[in-house]
Amino acid sequence: MRFYLEEGLEKLARWLRFLGHEAYLIKGPVSFKSVKPDGVFITTSRRWYERLKKAGLECFLVPRHEFKLQLRAVVKHYGLKGELSLERCAFCSSRLEPLTGEELKRLVPPAALKEATDFRRCPSCGAVFWKGSHYERMKKKLREMLNGLD
Ligand SMILES: [Zn+2]
Repeated sequence: MRFYLEEGLEKLARWLRFLGHEAYLIKGPVSFKSVKPDGVFITTSRRWYERLKKAGLECFLVPRHEFKLQLRAVVKHYGLKGELSLERCAFCSSRLEPLTGEELKRLVPPAALKEATDFRRCPSCGAVFWKGSHYERMKKKLREMLNGLD
């Protein structure tokens, strides 16, 4: 799915990308201009939520400070799969591409090359991702955060 999030919801945006979805932060104050009709707008403002709903835009209200509740609410409401995915860049949402051959040796530290799998790179910002020990820790954290949802 594609999500647009109000400024301040960076952490939620990052985790939605970890789940394989497109998530873009809207910079600056919310306005009708900043909300795009091709995705879901996530806000913490009840006032904006009601204004946008009235205008026929798909939007979703999350609690202001509690990240875990935000993530649980979005996952539950939109029926998202609660699984990590290496599909999207955590920083810019672009679709990741597999890293192979020479690039792999040039861009990945030797220790990671030995222990991790599934190396990918973002074609837009150049960030490199792989499934290593960090990925396993994130998987565990995600399970804990979504515990009890199905
Ligand atoms: Zn990127």
